[in-house]
Amino acid sequence: MDKVECVVVGAGVIGLAIARRLAMAGREVVVIEAAEAIGTVTSSRNSEVIHAGIYYPSGSLMARMCVSGKQALYAYCRDHGIPHRNCGKMIVATSEAETGRLQAIKAHAETNGVADLQPLTGEGARQIEPALNCCAALLSPSTGIVDSHALMLAFRGDAEAAGAAFAFHAPLLHGKADGDRIEIGVGGEAPLMLECRLLINAAGLAATTVARNIDGMPLERIPPAYLAKGNYFSCNARAPFSRLIYPVPEPGGLGVHLTLDLAGQARFGPDVEWIDSIDYSVDPARAERFYPAIRRYWPTLPDGALMPSYAGIRPKIVPPAVAVQDFNIQGPRDHGVHGLINLFGIESPGLTSSLAIADYVAELAAA
Ligand SMILES: Cc1cc2nc3c(=O)[nH]c(=O)nc-3n(C[C@H](O)[C@H](O)[C@H](O)COP(=O)(O)OP(=O)(O)OC[C@H]3O[C@@H](n4cnc5c(N)ncnc54)[C@H](O)[C@@H]3O)c2cc1C
Repeated sequence: MDKVECVVVGAGVIGLAIARRLAMAGREVVVIEAAEAIGTVTSSRNSEVIHAGIYYPSGSLMARMCVSGKQALYAYCRDHGIPHRNCGKMIVATSEAETGRLQAIKAHAETNGVADLQPLTGEGARQIEPALNCCAALLSPSTGIVDSHALMLAFRGDAEAAGAAFAFHAPLLHGKADGDRIEIGVGGEAPLMLECRLLINAAGLAATTVARNIDGMPLERIPPAYLAKGNYFSCNARAPFSRLIYPVPEPGGLGVHLTLDLAGQARFGPDVEWIDSIDYSVDPARAERFYPAIRRYWPTLPDGALMPSYAGIRPKIVPPAVAVQDFNIQGPRDHGVHGLINLFGIESPGLTSSLAIADYVAELAAA
């Protein structure tokens, strides 16, 4: 049986960031990826927003890692020439009742270490985004956008330069914890058995399945898995905004917001649709809910402008009735299996937090 020090399962942005971090620390790393390439699942089906860290519960991993990850990500993008733009975002109140909530959002953001939100009157907001309809707004200067694929290519490049190896079409099928080693069975065109001392389960939507397939992993420590699809619509009209526009959040989601890609093209979403099995199709009928929601802040959105685009699926570990979840990153102290680290529920802001998550996992791996 071949032996390797560390195996990372999954080459999404999280597995890549972790592989990079471990390889650059001098560890021997092999990344096994079920698909044919890096980043083909959730890491290429998101909004590509560098989040500020405004809403997450104070003290949560999401709050901490979003704020530190954002800073690390901007620095990384600058140093490595990754296309990105610190464009900022506006949170807009379109009624007096919502206006009252902006102050609470600002106060909460400050407890998360996001101290730069700027309150604006409706008039003040229109001075910087003239097409906006709102009573008041908060400007988040540290929000931005990033080319997620360029980021992942750079992570892979760093990992390979530091000696990491990648295997594609190489799904982890099963594993067995045995003292200070874990044996794993890898499928695909060239099935093999591997023995490692550190196994990082960064399989995204499949992380709970991967954990269940590791003999010795206590089942009661594996959270339940739910799927919440986020549908996007693109816009065939030019959206007259240069910042991201978010309504005041609604229960269960951020509301239908406008994000921009690096070419300035607007997209709307993601909404929240709880589903039972993986399905990336976008139902055109959902546009009927998008139009009125968008016209609250962009009243001149033309009829017929929205087109079904793409969808991503959030790896939920709490059911719909539970509004909030946190990243659930478990090391041996949490589940008792030597050398195993599981990453569950890495939904948004996972992209923003990727470098911070990698640091956290490296610390767990060293403990
Ligand atoms: C709709 C939506 C919008 C989002 N928007 C943002 C945003 O704007 N900003 C932000 O910061 N975050 C955002 N996120 C979150 C972000 O996209 C994710 O947190 C991040 O992409 C998760 O990366 P990952 O590597 O954990 O998962 P994935 O990208 O899904 O990667 C997991 C990999 O594991 C592989 N795999 C699965 N099973 C196996 C196996 N058995 N063996 C080997 N490989 C396996 C898969 O093929 C896949 O490549 C969004 C998420 C969603 C769903």
